[in-house]
Amino acid sequence: MLKIGCHLSVAAGYEAAAKTAVEIGANTFQFFSRNPRGGAARSVDTADIAKFLRLAQQHDLLPVLAHAPYVLNASSATPATRAFAHMCMQGDLSTLQLLPNNLYTFHPGSSSGVGKPQGIAYVTELLNRAVTPEINTTVLLEAMSGKGGELGADFGELAEIISGVECADKIGVCLDTCHVFCAGYDIVENLDGVIEEFDRTVGLARLKAVHVNDSMHPLGSRKDRHAKIGEGLIGADAIIRLINHPRLKHLPFYLETPNENDGYQKEIAFLKAHYSG
Ligand code: FE
Ligand code: FE
Ligand code: ZN
Repeated sequence: MLKIGCHLSVAAGYEAAAKTAVEIGANTFQFFSRNPRGGAARSVDTADIAKFLRLAQQHDLLPVLAHAPYVLNASSATPATRAFAHMCMQGDLSTLQLLPNNLYTFHPGSSSGVGKPQGIAYVTELLNRAVTPEINTTVLLEAMSGKGGELGADFGELAEIISGVECADKIGVCLDTCHVFCAGYDIVENLDGVIEEFDRTVGLARLKAVHVNDSMHPLGSRKDRHAKIGEGLIGADAIIRLINHPRLKHLPFYLETPNENDGYQKEIAFLKAHYSG
């Protein structure tokens, strides 16, 4: 069965988000761990979490994917920004202890002020601080497009970060179709080759989730603007091939397309209808 969901708000609670997911035909979802731009944490409502976990079990919604705020930048040249990244990830992972065995994705950040080798060292340091043996969440590095000195647009950089992490069994990767396409990986004409390259550098066993987005910008453009499925330069056919690829089809897929919930509902139905099971 296709594991497919989209980005949903948990502002009204996790249970409410799970209900919305079920209503729009999703069987998983992604949510922001806290305010995506400001970074303030939400208070934890344990009653809501208990209700959410019951509903999630009933409808087989797990794993769900938490997304770190965009302002988390572990590879920044500014010490206060790096300190915030540590505080933020440690806080998020401590909250996620209440939702065991799920996923948490974050952007490796922009190393434009410090250079790639130092940026990689900073991200590794963050993971060694935040991802301790008692953490019950798998932490995913998101593959990025490479805009503005972003780390993680190259599979080799992701591999390098992971190679320095002590609790590497809790580390994975989240591929974003828009990002990898704009980073120059041709998932339209050469999906097999891209998967092979990922397997050679990072190892396919590390791939735990995929963001499915079409792209407003072309292959290798190093830009990052998501389009609705079939309305961008990746195209619906390439996305259908990707969700059906024998080495990817078991993964959870998350839409981050420019949609409200009714638009997501249509895209979820479309992808389900084109999944060969
Ligand atoms: Fe992301
Ligand atoms: Fe993404
Ligand atoms: Zn993006």
